[in-house]
Amino acid sequence: MKVKKTLLDIIYPEKPVCLACGRRYDSSEISGICSRCLSRITFITEPCPLCGRQVIPSSLFAGDLCPECQEKMPDFDAARSSFSYLGYGRELLLKFKYGHRPDLASPMVEILFLYFKEYFSKYNIDYIMAIPMHEEREEIRGYNQAALLAELLAEKTGIEYRDILLRTKNSIPLFSLTREAREMELKDVFSLKKNINFREFSKKNILIIDDILTTGTTASKTAALIKNRLDSNKIFVLTAASVPVEIY
Ligand SMILES: [Zn+2]
Ligand SMILES: [Zn+2]
Repeated sequence: MKVKKTLLDIIYPEKPVCLACGRRYDSSEISGICSRCLSRITFITEPCPLCGRQVIPSSLFAGDLCPECQEKMPDFDAARSSFSYLGYGRELLLKFKYGHRPDLASPMVEILFLYFKEYFSKYNIDYIMAIPMHEEREEIRGYNQAALLAELLAEKTGIEYRDILLRTKNSIPLFSLTREAREMELKDVFSLKKNINFREFSKKNILIIDDILTTGTTASKTAALIKNRLDSNKIFVLTAASVPVEIY
């Protein structure tokens, strides 16, 4: 019976299951997510050259820095994200983050890798790092979704992953806060782990990974810490999703 089943599997292999919708699918550009689900994600096509967020409506965007970057330049050199935190993409990210679905990291990294190749493979990236999570929160969730993405991307790119950043306090969600309040909330939130060989990072190019870039304040604070304390060269940021910038 078992032999027969195995033979049947070879002749008619079972179709893979989409991790997003649970249906079986024939083929897809990204393994783990069916093409129907992919078509429902709002991929970023016209990013702000600095923060990488989609500007909407894009008809008003001439390719200069978005209004938020013009108001305050972030401390990273450039950020990019795969998709906008809207609709189906937002649903997927929430599942990944809060729905105990670490398995979604794998297709997300496949997509991230495409953006990595387009924007960052031309730079000599020395290390990949992840935005750290407060250890209490990580214990409750069971995983740091940013670190999962970073480790998988490191494997895919062959760039070394380094876990040297620390979040020393559990900050509240930043999205609803004003810029000043966000700055205050993140003051001294990040630091470096002990026993770091500072020379290892001097003049190096670093890629920071996170699941989502909302306003860019978190990524900017982390980039500033790395630049100032480790004397690194270029700091780039790559996230699965980002919140679009709306121009009125
Ligand atoms: Zn699907
Ligand atoms: Zn921008």
